Amino acid sequence: MIRMTDPTLDDAEALLKRVYGFEAFRGLQSNVIQDVLSGRDGLAVLPTGGGKSLCYQIPALLRDGVGLVVSPLIALMADQVDALKALGVRAERLDSSMAFEDRAAAVRAAEQGEMDLLYVSPEALAGNLAHTLSRLQVSVLAIDEAHCVSQWGHDFRPDYRGLGRLKDLFPGVPRLAVTATADDRTRADILKQLDLSEPAVHVASFDRPNLTLAAEPKSGNKMDRLVALIKGRSGQSGIVYAATRKGAEACAEALERHGIKALAYHAGLDAEDRAARQRQFLLEDGLVMCATVAFGMGVDKPDVRFVIHADPPKTIEAYWQEVGRAGRDGEPAEGVALFGPADLRRSLMWSLESDAGEEIKRVQITKTRQLFAFLNGEACRRQTVRTYFGELDAEPCGVCDNCLAEARDAHDVSRWAQMAVSAVLRCGQRIGRGRLLIHLMGQAKDGFDQDLSQHSTYGIGTDLPKAGWNAVFDQLLFTGLLSEGGEVTRPYIMVPDHDAAKALFRGDLSVYLRVDPSVKRTSRKRSNVASVAFAELSERDRSLFEILRAWRVELAKSKGVPPYVIFHDKTLAEIATERPSDLSQLRQITGVGEKKVERYGEDIARIVQQAA
Ligand code: ADP
Ligand code: ZN
Repeated sequence: MIRMTDPTLDDAEALLKRVYGFEAFRGLQSNVIQDVLSGRDGLAVLPTGGGKSLCYQIPALLRDGVGLVVSPLIALMADQVDALKALGVRAERLDSSMAFEDRAAAVRAAEQGEMDLLYVSPEALAGNLAHTLSRLQVSVLAIDEAHCVSQWGHDFRPDYRGLGRLKDLFPGVPRLAVTATADDRTRADILKQLDLSEPAVHVASFDRPNLTLAAEPKSGNKMDRLVALIKGRSGQSGIVYAATRKGAEACAEALERHGIKALAYHAGLDAEDRAARQRQFLLEDGLVMCATVAFGMGVDKPDVRFVIHADPPKTIEAYWQEVGRAGRDGEPAEGVALFGPADLRRSLMWSLESDAGEEIKRVQITKTRQLFAFLNGEACRRQTVRTYFGELDAEPCGVCDNCLAEARDAHDVSRWAQMAVSAVLRCGQRIGRGRLLIHLMGQAKDGFDQDLSQHSTYGIGTDLPKAGWNAVFDQLLFTGLLSEGGEVTRPYIMVPDHDAAKALFRGDLSVYLRVDPSVKRTSRKRSNVASVAFAELSERDRSLFEILRAWRVELAKSKGVPPYVIFHDKTLAEIATERPSDLSQLRQITGVGEKKVERYGEDIARIVQQAA
């Protein structure tokens, strides 16, 4: 690479075209890059797929010296390094899984000014390596997945705490922290922990226009529902998230039984197995990964078409990051989350039993409640998330389940909520939901459940069917007007906040449901199958597209890299429609840079010609 003494945004744009084959910067990329080029520290919060890596790669390629990138996962580093090498960029990683000689060779190359980017793990930086690296001329220091530095984030990593000392080790080197999800508090903490100097903070919109979102209460057999959801999306790559390892295994088994290619992934598998499965997911089309949250960070597969939460995520941040793994290529993709009161109970238990401090527990519990209010709420999904992240002017998306729901009117169920809360108080906050329903509906049997009929609230709720009462109780639990205690398997119901209960009785607080609980429920309208990506290609172009894909699969296999490292689907689709007849026309296609023209230009030209 030719180094520039004072690189400008124009230089950055030229490089974007020449190396990456992209026409223009996206969103805030150019703003972030300009600040880094000028030597300023910064924090960039850009959505998944927003192109965070370019924000530090391009300055690293333009400024003198080697760019250092701190990244939390070896798999993440390996993918990025592979992709960079495919572009002709000199990149390597330094982590514990690499042979000593390879690491030494990479450092030597950097010393001789023959390295553009080095990816480093945070533990490596905590050790002696930091001093070796501090003697290098460093162009930029990037901290990827920077939310890991904060306890307020959703993926705190103690290794990240030591990164504050980078300031002293690399004085005068611009440091750029990047992440996809960080609320206000997490952002402030990142700035503080990394001790960034007068940082330029860039926060992009959290909108993901190509994502269609839905959430539905669990009902009936979860596996049947999961299979049905995925059958409607057959042939697409997707991720299913489950709360536990066993759950992930069970989902994969259920899908396999129904002829859907699926794999399980969780921290209980050994590292080798995990790496192999992750690789298979990247390489194969139409595979469903059933995983715990151990899977995901660093999975840069651009054509994941759906993310289904068989169990809900932990927080809205985690939700956005997890569904955000769908549709990174900008093509239509879907997120469906299943949730129920038992999940809420489990989340709250996790928070209460963790050894985090009181303040952190309190924040976690609030976040859990916000998540369930969101899942069970009737507001636009995308708008709610964006508002949560501080985008107060976000508009409804028009395509999520709630935007499309026919019955937009919320039903005021405050009257029944009052009955439920009174019954819980009268019955001494010591009995479970099943018995509360018997009590409210006046169905105690003679000689049995005698105690239930002794309180004045007995039989006051005969005007709701059992399903209606269950819906009311769910909502009260989600909103925190009621809570559960006792054993997880046999919880009893309590009133945790007497002030809120009083407000409910006074009529100052109302409770709403999406459905009228007094009407026997018909099955809820399910979200539609996503529009298949690239469906808009004409038949003729589609056939060329398929030929190009087959060529890419062969090539990827022979090189042992994921297909999208060679070209994205989007690029192949554009080739299929534009049919470039020479190399200069090929250069005009999105995602085709110099190196790719050099490597694949001939092949493509031949294929296009043969298809003509
Ligand atoms: P993030 O890390 O923010 O999730 P990446 O840096 O992996 O996103 O970028 C997501 C995808 O978008 C990648 O395939 C990348 O090559 C592509 N991309 C990034 N910037 C641009 C751009 N300016 N124009 C076109 N594609 C881009
Ligand atoms: Zn919507």
